[in-house]
Amino acid sequence: MNELRDEFTDSTPGPFSLGADTHVVILTGAGISAESGLATFRGQGGLWEGHRVEEVASPRAFSRDPRCVWRFYNARRTALKAVEPNAAHRALVSLERYIKDGNFTLITQNVDDLHQRAGSRNILPMHGELVKIRCTECNHLEENRDDLDDFPRCSCGALLRPHIVWFGEMPFYMETIASRMRELDVFIAIGTSGAVYPAAGLVEQAKRSGARTVWINPDEPPFEFSWDEFYRGPAATVVPTLVSRWTGKSV
Ligand code: NAD
Ligand code: ZN
Repeated sequence: MNELRDEFTDSTPGPFSLGADTHVVILTGAGISAESGLATFRGQGGLWEGHRVEEVASPRAFSRDPRCVWRFYNARRTALKAVEPNAAHRALVSLERYIKDGNFTLITQNVDDLHQRAGSRNILPMHGELVKIRCTECNHLEENRDDLDDFPRCSCGALLRPHIVWFGEMPFYMETIASRMRELDVFIAIGTSGAVYPAAGLVEQAKRSGARTVWINPDEPPFEFSWDEFYRGPAATVVPTLVSRWTGKSV
């Protein structure tokens, strides 16, 4: 890994070059939305907005107390309405437009809709989306931004649930992700703690595919040897600068 442990500034050297033909896979986590005003999860002693995740983000919690789980997710859904994408989300849209069609993949662990609202297109929200809900009985799945009560029902009468991947459940898009991880040149992780699997294992797949790996975060990566480049700092500062160096355009 490079020795870029100091805070990122305009004079920090790098990065590697990145052409329009490069296959790029980006992985984002809660940190990219921190500067929009959404709390990260591990940053606060393992609590997510004051809750232990197993109390609110597991199938067991939902079957035991669906109203408590829905109150938590309804609060997260309401919070989305008060925040906006930041410069890092927007810079990734510029990068996507610069890269040739089909060569850019944005995998996000975030359940907020800030990448989508910024204009990202090729996005795989592997942990689900707060703005989607689905039935616990039938196949019904819908995008829904309404205020819901704490026991919302499907038209079939069954209980609805958030379209979120809870602990113990299989993330979405795993086959697509696996195929993108076989053909990439560069893997860039932004604002993720690297603690939640299987997302945390993607860097090893990227290395096996011979890709260059880049870590953007105020904190050092957990497995230092996995990363070729490290840019230390907040996403909304670092990502636009790197993207404008990569693309040669101001963002
Ligand atoms: P995490 O909370 O475990 O880690 C956040 C990371 O972001 C940390 O490494 C931290 O150093 C870094 N960070 C903090 N401020 C930053 C900034 N300004 N710029 C760049 N990085 C910054 O997040 P995770 O790895 O995404 O895992 C958390 C899980 O909880 C995910 O599965 C996610 O679905 C869920 N979650 C989602 C949201 C959201 O959608 N916005 C918020 C909280 C939790
Ligand atoms: Zn139903």
